[in-house]
Amino acid sequence: MRLDDVRGFVFDVDGTLVHRDGGTAHVVPGARELLERIKASGRPFVIFTNGSHLPPAQFARGLRDVGLPVEDEQMLTPLCSVQAYLNGRRRGQKVLPFVTDGARGYLAESGVELVDFDHAAEADAVFVAHIDHADLPELEKAAFAVIGGARLLTGSYVAAYAGANGPILSRGAMVTAAIAKASSTRPTIVGKPSKAAVRAVRKALGVPTEQIAVVGDDLYGSDRADDRTMDCQIVAAEHAENDHDAQGGDAGQWDPATAAPALLDTCGGRQPVDPEGDPADGDCGPERVHALEQVE
Ligand SMILES: [Mg+2]
Repeated sequence: MRLDDVRGFVFDVDGTLVHRDGGTAHVVPGARELLERIKASGRPFVIFTNGSHLPPAQFARGLRDVGLPVEDEQMLTPLCSVQAYLNGRRRGQKVLPFVTDGARGYLAESGVELVDFDHAAEADAVFVAHIDHADLPELEKAAFAVIGGARLLTGSYVAAYAGANGPILSRGAMVTAAIAKASSTRPTIVGKPSKAAVRAVRKALGVPTEQIAVVGDDLYGSDRADDRTMDCQIVAAEHAENDHDAQGGDAGQWDPATAAPALLDTCGGRQPVDPEGDPADGDCGPERVHALEQVE
């Protein structure tokens, strides 16, 4: 895929748009200009983080606070893609959640049917996101729900993520692993790089998957793009070297200082997308095409 063919972008957050130092987020040089240039080109972008301790709008607010032009509706997290997953199933959708209070409120407001631990046996799915505390009797109830046929969903299943002072072990992964072990089940990941995440991105962008570019710092992890998920991947080294083979060379290394100018050149050097284009994907509906016409 060529950059000229890209009609929508999805950006990772940490290590891609910002670097976090404790509670402070430092914007990666060039990131703001890059997002503004893409916006001006008429092409949509969304941001996807696997962070799940806050509702998506709060992540968006945090990015705006440091100067990045991100609207609430452009912010996607596993709390969004779990809905894409559930919406793609025909069976019941009662969810037993292991999430923070903020995330629980967001899911309930979004229309996800939540059940509490007294009704765990009714759950069609157990969903684990970030959580600060877990209770063994609750884990047991969740495990029995999974044994009884509920699906075990998790936002992310990586053991740890990068913190200012070294790796932070994922409590969500710990809880997921406990339920998975007790129920002899493999969890289904619904955050990046799952199909559910791609579905959420595609719907938000209104662009066919093969015309979406992923910009992230973790090529072989959560930002992975292959035929199982995304069809396109853009990373710094790839563009710095004008090499479109995402599997080649130093493509796993995201160097924003190099990548941002390369992407800026691309985004500033072409015309806005053609609204008459023939989207081959069902999610690219007329509303989106109309929006693009308005931008032009
Ligand atoms: Mg990252």
